[in-house]
Amino acid sequence: MPTYNVENLRRDFPILERQVYGKPLIYLDNTATSQTPREVVEAIEQMYFAHKANVHRGVFSLSQESTAMQEAAREKVRAHINAASASEIIFTRGTTEAINLVASSFGSFFENGDEIILTVMEHHANIVPWQLLGTRKRITIRVVPITPDGSLDLDAYRTLFNERTRLVAFTHVSNVLGTVNPVKEMTDYAHSLGVPVLVDGAQAVPHMKIDVTDLDVDFYAFSSHKMYGPAGVGVLYGKERWLEAMPPYQGGGEMISHVSFKKTTYAELPFKFEAGTPDFVDIAALSTSIDYINRIGLPAIAWHEHELLQWTTDEMMKIPGMRIFGTAPGKSAVISFLMGDAHHYDTGMLLDKLGIAVRTGHHCAQPLMESLGIEGTVRASFALYNTRAEAEAFIAALHRIAPLLGV
Ligand code: PLP
Repeated sequence: MPTYNVENLRRDFPILERQVYGKPLIYLDNTATSQTPREVVEAIEQMYFAHKANVHRGVFSLSQESTAMQEAAREKVRAHINAASASEIIFTRGTTEAINLVASSFGSFFENGDEIILTVMEHHANIVPWQLLGTRKRITIRVVPITPDGSLDLDAYRTLFNERTRLVAFTHVSNVLGTVNPVKEMTDYAHSLGVPVLVDGAQAVPHMKIDVTDLDVDFYAFSSHKMYGPAGVGVLYGKERWLEAMPPYQGGGEMISHVSFKKTTYAELPFKFEAGTPDFVDIAALSTSIDYINRIGLPAIAWHEHELLQWTTDEMMKIPGMRIFGTAPGKSAVISFLMGDAHHYDTGMLLDKLGIAVRTGHHCAQPLMESLGIEGTVRASFALYNTRAEAEAFIAALHRIAPLLGV
């Protein structure tokens, strides 16, 4: 199995040396955002100290340098997800903006009475943009349910299509259950009925190799800050034929070819969808985070995280009253749980006092919580720098707080 020296690698992340309440920080909220290695922060610093100039606007050297860095980052992203062309890579503020872009622009093709298919495990980022579209047009949202282990019910999925279905939009990996959805199978089925597919890849890209050409999805969205990159930038991949046909999402500089008060024409892809000055500093640093991930290797990262997931899950199941939500085979390293009748918030607060950062609440997935019949969970999630010693400390902490929670 591929492997790496996690102790050496942790030195790349200065924040991991922090203490919280006098205890070493154990950061287990990687699903919400991952920590950033020194070289990515240095790339930001380099951009500010040595290259900063607005992109695509200057004849002078600095502007050409920053433009070249942004476009090199676009090519890096293209290669990382194996898109056919760099013009299919649109930089956005994150997954949320990427999905809003598709809902607003691609959604303009929808007509009253049209339908889309989502799943019950979607993050609000892949629900609310479609509901907003629904305030402008009468769109019916059909929802794929889950089975008891947190897998999508694929038989139910197939029954939701009809002649009015215009799009299927679903998450690659659930940010609550860890379920890895069968993107290729679901896409093949949708395409066999002529329906395009959008995949929310926010929780997949940091943990597994993504090949959008092989998956054949029409749109794929993800965020830099969850893949050891800077906050404030994300990516929308879209098939060129859709992006060519779609109207611009926002108007302004950068996205035009010619402007007059009579008629404005738009820029070529991908710039048609990038109005205003892009976050060229963070875009360049995202490129560095992709290099960082690739140097370690996604198979090694996946193996490491899976080992932690397996061991921690087995140990958690030994704790009386422990309920884990999401047990699908091959799940990602996310553990959502409740201890007895304890409130998730109390569990999270007590863990924080021991230096352990976990997320509590509905995780921006309230429809999923409703379908599980709960208000929220505690969620621990692993990244490439977490260690077995941290997992052991987490288990010891759960044992320690159990009596305090009346479990
Ligand atoms: N989709 C999923 C599955 C997520 O987990 C998240 C963030 O947690 C998002 C979308 C939203 O990502 P962002 O806030 O970076 O736009």
